Amino acid sequence: MEFENLKLKCECGGKMEKIRTEWKGMEVRGWKCSKCSEEIINPADAQKALEMERARKKNLLTVKLRKVGKSNVVTVPQPIIEAENLKEGQKLEWKIEAGKLFLTQ
Ligand SMILES: [Zn+2]
Repeated sequence: MEFENLKLKCECGGKMEKIRTEWKGMEVRGWKCSKCSEEIINPADAQKALEMERARKKNLLTVKLRKVGKSNVVTVPQPIIEAENLKEGQKLEWKIEAGKLFLTQ
């Protein structure tokens, strides 16, 4: 089921608008009622945010930049592989935005 495309109606009768918000230190998709401001977080994103929080607490998301031959190497932690369903051979792209590094699919 693709929650992203759901049109939701709030219990108060107000219309829910799609939003991006921060939850547990992660940007998540969700909906916000234009009338009462009630927020709902996309369940798939909420699940990932919880898994990432758990992994971060166990220090599983911290990796070291290493040198292998002439290449600079970082490993992708298993919780990230599972949350994003990454496969061997898949191409990823680095981005730098506002001083932060992003690895995107
Ligand atoms: Zn409402």
